[in-house]
Amino acid sequence: MRLFECGTLVPGCEWHTRADSDAEVVRRVVEHMRDTHGETVVRENMIENIKARIVDEPRMENAENVT
Ligand SMILES: [Zn+2]
Repeated sequence: MRLFECGTLVPGCEWHTRADSDAEVVRRVVEHMRDTHGETVVRENMIENIKARIVDEPRMENAENVT
């Protein structure tokens, strides 16, 4: 899974999303930016900023084995 936390881009925002593909994550983030942060115009460099902050989320089963 791919994970994006809005707080990495907008300090203080607790919103996050996860999806199978980067494209889906970006789509949801753009929606959130529009609805929550009032970014009616999504600039090219914002997409780049979003993509740069998407991280791989470890699977639950692996996370449980970490201890
Ligand atoms: Zn946000």
